[in-house]
Amino acid sequence: MNESVKQERFQIIPPPYRIKVVELLSKEQMDIADNRQKREEAIKKAGYNTFLLKEDQVYIDLLTDSGTNAMSDNQWAGMMLGDEAYAGSKNFYNLEKAVREIYGYKYLVPTHQGRAAEHIMSQILIKPGDSVPNNMYFTTRRVHQELAGATWVDVSIDEAHDPQSWHPFKGNVDLEKLEALIQEVGPEKIPYMSLEANVNMAGGQPFSMENLTALRALCSKHEIPIMLDGTRLVENAYFIQRRETGHEKKSVRQIAREICSYTDGVTVSGKKDALVNIGGFLACNDKKLFVEARAMVVVFEGLHTYGGLAGRDMEAMARGIYEMVQDRHVAARVNQVEYLGHLLLQARVPVVVPIGGHAVFLDARRFLPHIPQERYPSQALSAALYLESGIRGMERGMVSSGRDPATGEERKPRLELVRLAIPRRGYTHTDMDFVAQAIIRLYRMRKRISGLKMVYETERLRFFQARFRPAGGRLTG
Ligand SMILES: *Cc1c(COP(=O)(O)O)cnc(C)c1O
Repeated sequence: MNESVKQERFQIIPPPYRIKVVELLSKEQMDIADNRQKREEAIKKAGYNTFLLKEDQVYIDLLTDSGTNAMSDNQWAGMMLGDEAYAGSKNFYNLEKAVREIYGYKYLVPTHQGRAAEHIMSQILIKPGDSVPNNMYFTTRRVHQELAGATWVDVSIDEAHDPQSWHPFKGNVDLEKLEALIQEVGPEKIPYMSLEANVNMAGGQPFSMENLTALRALCSKHEIPIMLDGTRLVENAYFIQRRETGHEKKSVRQIAREICSYTDGVTVSGKKDALVNIGGFLACNDKKLFVEARAMVVVFEGLHTYGGLAGRDMEAMARGIYEMVQDRHVAARVNQVEYLGHLLLQARVPVVVPIGGHAVFLDARRFLPHIPQERYPSQALSAALYLESGIRGMERGMVSSGRDPATGEERKPRLELVRLAIPRRGYTHTDMDFVAQAIIRLYRMRKRISGLKMVYETERLRFFQARFRPAGGRLTG
């Protein structure tokens, strides 16, 4: 099965839209594209952290696919139909209908974005001293589990941590690791299984339906609910359609719905799959959880029929949810990511395989083998990419991993990656060609890139604001 993914031939799938409106780049951005001196000043000022660059200083922005989606004409038309009533907005009911039809959960609590839903869910379900198993981690999900007093436990399969493994379902849960945890702490200490679709930190990698149904059986046996992180649900569904026997003839919409049917609830950042710029929600089938979440959303977000969103934002998300499950949309979206990955693989640049659903991940350990992990190779690579080309990616390695809350020691993840996330419907294949050329050039001069020292960090989610200095005086000597 592994080989079959490796041997797939790349074929282009054009997107199912035409471009009617474009966003012009500013004069500053064009200057940045042409002027290395300006980029050098900018990255130095930003403490070699691409999160601290201003958008005007970025030429091609692959920092994230979060909230950077281009909305459709249909979504923009929906924005004009925002019902801004404080209570009972029409758009809330449209969103509720979309969530019921596409995801299939009974109850909806809207939130301003994904982490707000994670906060509410964690506070309600977790008691101090609990353990929460996860298939790897997502930064905000783990932080909210830990803030609620839980210990995060990784139950992902070993292949997920190996950037060179062609395993087609690196998002799978290792059921033996999960069983061992259940034996060790007891099921009553596990408030839920936290399951992420198309695992971001593993490189945008899916779980299989087979693994999910086995997980369901195991969790049901011990009465442990499965709470899905459905932020990238449709990209996971698309990979199942393409790679898993017995699912080839189903639509992405059917598969997505089937995934949700094996879970008890979901938190979603609408800023990814759902094709909006802001928005999120929590949805579930358990009335008790819903009632508690509804009571809590009023404290932290806003009334339960808007949860921190304008009516127009809820309408755009409702419409985005129907668009996101269209087969041709998902296929073309993932295909564009694979196109960039394909160009880099052909040039033998080390990237995580299989190419993920939302991003291409450069493997900084192999790209910069001369930089030890204590010198933050992924951070150095993301800074060097910007310096040499004006392209912005993001560190996904030791800086993102942060410190262990119990010991204060830095976590040392096996994966040291630079993520190049592709915004949905925002860039063309010409942009991807340009990005590939820039990375191939950087790869040729890789020996000249030096490591970084951290000079400032925050206690939580430090990757957003940390600052660095080149360990050898200059970033690229
Ligand atoms: C982005 C993201 C979140 C958090 O959502 P926000 O809208 O950024 O708060 C949670 N989980 C996953 C998998 C994500 O990609």
